[in-house]
Amino acid sequence: MSEETKDRPSHFIRDMIAADVAAGKNGGQVVTRFPPEPNGYLHIGHAKAICIDFGMAQEFGGRCHLRMDDTNPAKESMEYVENIQRDIRWLGFDWGDHFYYSADYFERMVECAVKLIRMDMAYVCELTQEQWKDYRGIPTQPGRESPFRNRPAEESVALFARMRAGVFPDGSLCLRAKIDMASPNLHLRDPVLYRILRMPHYLTGDAWVIYPTYDYAHPIEDAIEGVTHSLCTLEFEVHRPLYDWVVQTLGFDPVPRQTEFARLNLTYTVMSKRKLLELVQGGQVAGWDDPRMPTLCGMRRRGYPPAAVRAFCDAVGVTKYESLTDVALLEHCVRDELNRTATRRMAVFDPLKVVIDNLPADAPAAFGIPNNPEDPAAGTREVPFGRTILIEREDFMEEPPKDFFRLAPGRAVRLRGAGFLTCTEVVKDASGRVVELHGTWQPMTEKVKVKATIHWVPEAGARQVEVRLYDRLFRVEDLSATPEESDYRDFLNPDSLKTVTAFAEPSIAGAQPGAAFQFERIGYFCADEKDSKPGAPVFNRTVTLKDAYAKAQGRR
Ligand code: ATP
Ligand code: MG
Repeated sequence: MSEETKDRPSHFIRDMIAADVAAGKNGGQVVTRFPPEPNGYLHIGHAKAICIDFGMAQEFGGRCHLRMDDTNPAKESMEYVENIQRDIRWLGFDWGDHFYYSADYFERMVECAVKLIRMDMAYVCELTQEQWKDYRGIPTQPGRESPFRNRPAEESVALFARMRAGVFPDGSLCLRAKIDMASPNLHLRDPVLYRILRMPHYLTGDAWVIYPTYDYAHPIEDAIEGVTHSLCTLEFEVHRPLYDWVVQTLGFDPVPRQTEFARLNLTYTVMSKRKLLELVQGGQVAGWDDPRMPTLCGMRRRGYPPAAVRAFCDAVGVTKYESLTDVALLEHCVRDELNRTATRRMAVFDPLKVVIDNLPADAPAAFGIPNNPEDPAAGTREVPFGRTILIEREDFMEEPPKDFFRLAPGRAVRLRGAGFLTCTEVVKDASGRVVELHGTWQPMTEKVKVKATIHWVPEAGARQVEVRLYDRLFRVEDLSATPEESDYRDFLNPDSLKTVTAFAEPSIAGAQPGAAFQFERIGYFCADEKDSKPGAPVFNRTVTLKDAYAKAQGRR
């Protein structure tokens, strides 16, 4: 086990692999794979699977393959393949030379099918899908055997060849495994191995009119690649006997072993590629990488650091129990990481002008303020100072209640990195609204008793920047518990995006696209990687500073 991971809490998959390695199984080798279907972008649920698949291989000195599970040509595309690769790299994992397509194995799979037919373990069936439903039966009662089940093997071999050659219409014939029509597991009642489907495949074009089913293809792909541990989500548990049947009947040695874990479900979001695609196509979001999406590219654009996503997957752990994880835990991990790494800047969202009446001629023209108090190596930047500054309107109250410690008439506060400000005068407009404050300034070297520090920006040189304030995409916590007759889109949060203008200190102009910042006392933000222009960054709010998760855990 590597240094980095040995202190992590263990889980059943790690324990199982450790035991296999200790017992010298597969020569002590660990080979896993991550098999996404290229029919959409990766989401945070996939991140969990990726962290387990790649993480286990890394920990045990093995390797993890990236394989496009592209046996179903409908909706698959190269665009998805490329973005899947990009997102996995972003998350921090590497498949080395082990990138594969299921389609690479189509010819081998046909050979295996012919082998099964000749072993009397598969046959071409001519029942229609409707008829088959009836033959298959229900779990509590055995099904009936297809009348084609016992046709001579050579007849099936010939028919299968003609299926492949395009002689028959779509869906008319199929190849079935010959297993057990009385099995209580419906997946073992002569499941389909091949179907006829005239649909161009993004890799193989029109070369094929028959496509293997997932249940047949997946175990063969794993076995061909020498995968030792095939880790997947719980919905495949009932398919496992079929997985084992395929690799054992075909005589692969060694045989890969499938193990299932619970999917990740998150509050306030949906996590199915179909639904995410619908949101993109329906225009409810601006694209797969909309910062409100639970996709990895959305999270990257939102400013989530990959290390935070990995820490979250670690914190979620690996179990066999379906559960709903609080998105606040993810946000907590994001804050935790950004607190250590994000550059501090000051920005005022709702400005109130303050005129300093006593600023001496020799007052500093600028202050050097640390870029990150958590990281001395991050250095300082210069923030110009002057007679007029902007503060946050809510940091002033004319008649403060007892528990308000910030600026008020006659009261002083510390200005972040820039001495003290005492409010001496309040200027109002005709309607009685406070429009300006006057005050006096004292340098840091003086001893002034204050109870609060506020942020500020110099009026001269302040940059107006566009800031997108993102909130949760949905307004209900558990979308799986919404009424049957409702549509998940009924629960979209109408306030999930607000665009505002903030006034930031001048150095913000140099923000590089993608760079992360803490706007002091406000939250974490990142310069949008797409819409930022040189010298004119646009910001996405990554998370607020308030940590609901830590609070709930009694940590802060
Ligand atoms: P979706 O249901 O979102 O469309 P999928 O399971 O069809 O996802 P695949 O591309 O087949 O998507 O998934 C690739 C791998 O990621 C599979 O091994 C699957 O088990 C795993 N995976 C998918 N969703 C989750 C999730 N929510 N939590 C953990 N693993 C997941
Ligand atoms: Mg799938």
